[in-house]
Amino acid sequence: MRIVSIGECMVELAPLSEPGIFRLGYAGDTFNTAWYLRRLLPPENVVAYFTAVGTDETSARLLASMAAAGIETRHIVQMPDRTVGLYLIELRNGERSFTYWRGQSAARTLAADPARLAQALSGARLAYLSGITLAILSPGDRASLLDVLRDFRASGGLVGFDPNLRPRLWPSPAEMCAAIMQAAGCSDIVLPSFEDEAAFFADTTPEATLTRYAGAGVADIVVKNGAGPMLARLGGQVVQLAPPPVAEVVDTTAAGDSFNAGFLAAHLTGAVPLAALAQGAQVAAQVIGARGALVDIPPADARLSAGI
Ligand code: ADP
Repeated sequence: MRIVSIGECMVELAPLSEPGIFRLGYAGDTFNTAWYLRRLLPPENVVAYFTAVGTDETSARLLASMAAAGIETRHIVQMPDRTVGLYLIELRNGERSFTYWRGQSAARTLAADPARLAQALSGARLAYLSGITLAILSPGDRASLLDVLRDFRASGGLVGFDPNLRPRLWPSPAEMCAAIMQAAGCSDIVLPSFEDEAAFFADTTPEATLTRYAGAGVADIVVKNGAGPMLARLGGQVVQLAPPPVAEVVDTTAAGDSFNAGFLAAHLTGAVPLAALAQGAQVAAQVIGARGALVDIPPADARLSAGI
C-alpha cells in the first residue's frame, strides 16, 4: 500500500531550558501524520510526503531528515527561489506561543504543477491532506489540487481529509468554510475536531458535525472531541468510543494528527470501526503524554510483538 500525505512541513525552533537556546526540528500537521503512519505501518507499505521546498541547505536537511525517518521524498518539488517555512515556540509562564515565518514558503507552490502531483499519487491507496494544505495555496492552485484529487478518486484512490480549521491562514472565516466543504466533497474519509467545527460552522453537537459532512457526500467520518467520546460513521455504521483517560496531559501538540495516523493505519488495513478508533485514540494518548509533536511511539514490529 502507498499513502501520500500532501502539505507543508516547517522548520521548528523549540525552546530548551536555557533561555535563548532552541532545538531545531521539523513539523507540520500533514507531515506529523505521515511520520506516525510510517511508525505504525509495516515496512512493506510506502508512506510518501508531497510538498515543495527550496534548493538551499536548510531544505536539503529537511529532506534528509524525512528520508531518515523512512518517508519517501522523491516527488517533492524543489524551488530554486524559495525555502521552507519556519516557526518558533516561546514559553511564557508555562504557556506556549507560536511565531510563524511561512508567508513565502516554498510549500505554497506545491500544486503549481498538477501533473507532478498526479504522478506522486499514481498507484496510491490514499491521498491525505488538511485544511492547512488548502489554506496555504492560491485559489487557482487549490482548484488544481482538487481536480487532481477528483481524477485520483476516479482511478480508484481514496482521499482522506482533516479540516484542521486555521482562520488566521484564510482571508475570512467564510472563505475558509466554503473551501473546507468543497474539499470535503472530494473526500472519502473526513476527520474533523468538534471544538473547531463548533466554532466556525456553528455545530451544536458532534452529531451535527457528522451530519453536515455526510450531507457533503463523505462516506467515512470521525468526529474527534478532545477527551470526550469520538463519534464516527464508518462503512454506514454509526459508532461512539471514549478515548482512554490520560493520567497527565503534558502537551496536546499533534493530538489530532497522531490520532489520524493511528486511525488510518488500522482502517486501511481492515480493522473494524471500533478497533480503528481505539488505535487512533491510543496513539494520541501516548503523544499527549509527552512533549513535542513527534513522540517516539513503538514502531509497527514492536507493536505486533507487544500485541498492541
Ligand atoms: P485536535 O488536536 O486536532 O484539536 P482533539 O483535541 O479533538 O484534536 O483530539 C484528538 C484526539 O486526541 C482525541 O480524539 C483523543 O483521542 C485524544 N485526546 C485529545 N485530548 C485528550 C485528553 N485530554 N484526554 C484523552 N485523550 C485526548
